[in-house]
Amino acid sequence: MAFRGISISDYIVKHLKNNPKENEENLRNRLNKAIVDFEKGVKCDCGNEIWVIGSASVGNKCFTCITGESEPSDDYEISSVLHNKQTRRSSRNVENRESFKLNGIFDDKGNEVNIDIVPKPSLCISCINNDNPKEELFCNMTRHDQKDEQEFKCFAYKKTW
Ligand SMILES: [Zn+2]
Repeated sequence: MAFRGISISDYIVKHLKNNPKENEENLRNRLNKAIVDFEKGVKCDCGNEIWVIGSASVGNKCFTCITGESEPSDDYEISSVLHNKQTRRSSRNVENRESFKLNGIFDDKGNEVNIDIVPKPSLCISCINNDNPKEELFCNMTRHDQKDEQEFKCFAYKKTW
């Protein structure tokens, strides 16, 4: 997706130049309404996020449903809306990472691994990361991966003393 960000007032100037018959106040109201709808989480019929600039003209729809093109190429979108879309996306990533942690460890077959049955190698006892809750998941994964190996190796190992 490559939208070009533009402020509301810059877009209105541009739009009025290309569409001299457009009523400025009317256009501004429609844009504001589309932004409010976007922020309320209104979606296109197909489930995508709405394209505010297009929606101001034809009603709340996404870029693809309005233009028939799959990706925008140098099409405009209101900057504050673009910023909002990016923030939403990155906060979703954090949620994913959290649920990964909460859900524990799964083996290749998708079964949850009971970490208590994976023995802690003696190497871990003298490691600075031992009993560090932030490292525990990674330590457990490392141990689980090597539970059938003769010799335990760990790249995160740091001696405590
Ligand atoms: Zn759509």
